[in-house]
Amino acid sequence: MVILGAGFGGLELATVLSMEFSEGIDVTLIDRNDAFVFGYSKLDVMFNRASLASVRMPYRDFVKPGVTLVRQTVTGIDPETRRVTTDSGTHDADFLVIALGADYDLGATPGLAEAGEFYSVAGAARAGELLPEFRGGRVIVGVCGSPIKCPPAPSEAALLLHDSFSRRGIRSSSEISFVIPFDTPVPPAPDASRALLAAFAERDIRFVPRRQVGSVDPDHRVAVLDDGTEMPYDLFLGVPKHRAPEAVTATGLTRDGFVPVDPATLETAAPGVYAIGDVAAAVVPKAGVFAEGQGRAVGASLIAALRGGGAPHRYEGRGTCYVEFGGDRVAGVDVDFLSGPAPAGSFRGPSLALVAEKQHFGASRRARWFGR
Ligand SMILES: Cc1cc2nc3c(=O)[nH]c(=O)nc-3n(C[C@H](O)[C@H](O)[C@H](O)COP(=O)(O)OP(=O)(O)OC[C@H]3O[C@@H](n4cnc5c(N)ncnc54)[C@H](O)[C@@H]3O)c2cc1C
Repeated sequence: MVILGAGFGGLELATVLSMEFSEGIDVTLIDRNDAFVFGYSKLDVMFNRASLASVRMPYRDFVKPGVTLVRQTVTGIDPETRRVTTDSGTHDADFLVIALGADYDLGATPGLAEAGEFYSVAGAARAGELLPEFRGGRVIVGVCGSPIKCPPAPSEAALLLHDSFSRRGIRSSSEISFVIPFDTPVPPAPDASRALLAAFAERDIRFVPRRQVGSVDPDHRVAVLDDGTEMPYDLFLGVPKHRAPEAVTATGLTRDGFVPVDPATLETAAPGVYAIGDVAAAVVPKAGVFAEGQGRAVGASLIAALRGGGAPHRYEGRGTCYVEFGGDRVAGVDVDFLSGPAPAGSFRGPSLALVAEKQHFGASRRARWFGR
């Protein structure tokens, strides 16, 4: 069994298989990096609430019987033969699970690479260096395409900017604008969107819906939206356009940038090949909690197949997204995408209890995957 990508999806799937079979299975888990970082930790790094070192979970601590984690870069995938090519060899699989996440297409937005983004670890660290030097002015949180990982994250960034500037006494000399191609901040969650819009209004954060940033001119400090509107800025914090990693697009398995899957089983068009998490064109949003759930669901199906029968497990599409609301409070959005005729969600307002729940979410994954 070969799993490509040791992110939320790949780590959970490898863990489930190891717990079931221990040394009785041979799983190769491949990742190009040497450490895992929770997506939301990028906001902690950006706002200097945590150091980069403290949020990195080194892969050497992922020790599971039956699983070998190798640090290699996937360069090719043949879905027919299930042969994977990396920068240091090939791997053949009976079952192949693609969990390589979404990459950022900085080239799709001219000027973005120089202007800056906060969705990568390096970009968040750079923003974390720039923010303390910022003395007030116009800030744009600008989304450059859709779909994006964790749809609430740009809203969280705008609210946390407000808090940070207020604490530093530069809020009244700053303008915060938030550009996003959706009608509302978090389209699948109307109650959360309403609460976020109210929070923006209270804090004088300018919300610019149904627009995306088409290009940025870092020399003149102007962001140009897709309708030609020019927005001058002093600090630009971008969310790049997303796409599947190149090794995946080259397989021919992608459509509109991501891998179509059966939403219930996560199987791709190629037999024995699954795609989970952000790399898949699934009906659920691109978020760690959904990638992890998909990893668990595929794990249950593979266990059934390897134990000699049983129907594939059906992925239920349920998850909770935590939303940093500012004021040291966190809100929660519980969404169920697949068990009913239409997605259903409920919103839990910002509270200290949800701060603790979010901390528990992170700590429990850290302990389950990395043993500490
Ligand atoms: C600012 C921000 C805040 C977020 N907040 C939340 C949140 O609060 N809750 C939540 O649930 N989600 C959140 N997310 C989203 C979450 O991080 C992702 O949706 C999640 O990590 C997706 O999991 P995955 O397993 O699909 O991919 P990933 O976790 O991205 O893992 C993919 C892995 O594949 C590896 N890889 C990629 N290409 C190659 C290659 N060619 N060769 C080898 N390895 C490769 C990568 O190194 C990576 O480790 C946030 C994201 C951001 C950016």
